[in-house]
Amino acid sequence: MLFGKQFKLGILGGGQLGAMLMRSAIDFGLEVAVLDKDAHAPAARYTSSFTCGDPLNYDDVLEFGKQCDVITIEKEAVNVDALRALSALGVAVRPSPDLIEFIQDKYLQKQFLESAGVPTPAARAFNGIAEIETADIQYPVCQKLRRNGYDGTGVTMLYSKYDLGTKAFEEPSIIEELIDIGKEISIIVARNPSGDMVCYDPVSMIFDKEKHVLSFQMGPANLSTRVATEAFGIALKIAEAAQLVGIMAIEMFVTKDDRVLVNELAPRPHNSGHHTMEASSTSQFEQHLRAILDLPLGATKSTAKSAMVNILDTGSVPNWKRLAAMQNVHLHLYGKYGGRIGRKLGHITIAGDTFEDVAAKTAAVRNLLNG
Ligand code: ADP
Repeated sequence: MLFGKQFKLGILGGGQLGAMLMRSAIDFGLEVAVLDKDAHAPAARYTSSFTCGDPLNYDDVLEFGKQCDVITIEKEAVNVDALRALSALGVAVRPSPDLIEFIQDKYLQKQFLESAGVPTPAARAFNGIAEIETADIQYPVCQKLRRNGYDGTGVTMLYSKYDLGTKAFEEPSIIEELIDIGKEISIIVARNPSGDMVCYDPVSMIFDKEKHVLSFQMGPANLSTRVATEAFGIALKIAEAAQLVGIMAIEMFVTKDDRVLVNELAPRPHNSGHHTMEASSTSQFEQHLRAILDLPLGATKSTAKSAMVNILDTGSVPNWKRLAAMQNVHLHLYGKYGGRIGRKLGHITIAGDTFEDVAAKTAAVRNLLNG
């Protein structure tokens, strides 16, 4: 056993990311405790140390965290004040409460990026539609909720002032310049408390233009050496400036004129890193553990070309047997029951020696999933 008998890792959030993190924790012989307000959360069934409570509630997080040696997150919506209190009690909170706090708010994220000298689309903060209406704004723009947006739910494009009455959010938001996007990429960077850092190869993310949600992803992304070098440099600069401990997904836009701009940050295992389980030397989950446990970081080499497709609830059941019959196509179901149309129920990774092979299988998988 790595850390002695009493060692316990706590995870705030029991979704699929927490469950997949537990798979790696098992390899390290760790005892894992999970806090989630849903007793049927995907990670709940894999530990006897499951606590039903709200990661956003101060008392729930404080009480839960007292039993842990190291506490980490699988989502950003957690109570930062309780994490600060746990840190004062000697629990190692990784990533730090300060980092989680600025990530929770897209405007604070923007301010962090600007102060770190990282290129990002220009943005201003607003408290409501009335304020936006009277401001001097050059449409079209992209409006984003400051807090709690995910999978495109907090993003809307405003093409003129008239869209304010129909499409705009009333809640506190940022208004960002609309970018002429050539490619969307993500890089996962890892940093441990000793300051060691590694990056994974960037992946290309292909988004649904209407819903702003990921359709599928391919890796490694096909980038010029100049763009790749710039993207790696940005990722390392962010990890250092944020004093990251753990892993962080950094979503970036490569503009049509080849500028690299940072869109958003997620300091935890991320959808855009799922392929690392089958197509990299070290999975993002093992890497996150290595980083938060202050172990040497693992190799990040891509071992295959890959694609990742999310399995969304369409209301009908795909033909799992036909999927299972495809070789080098890896099925990951999260064990979520019922739900709503569009909810993420799992993902599929396709690995292969050539992009042609991976692209052909990805098309077949997407056809099967869409019925
Ligand atoms: P979420 O946090 O919900 O994933 P994002 O900020 O990543 O939201 O935005 C979702 C998608 O919306 C992006 O992947 C991109 O396709 C599009 N988008 C976001 N910001 C801009 C922008 N400034 N200009 C153009 N498209 C954008």
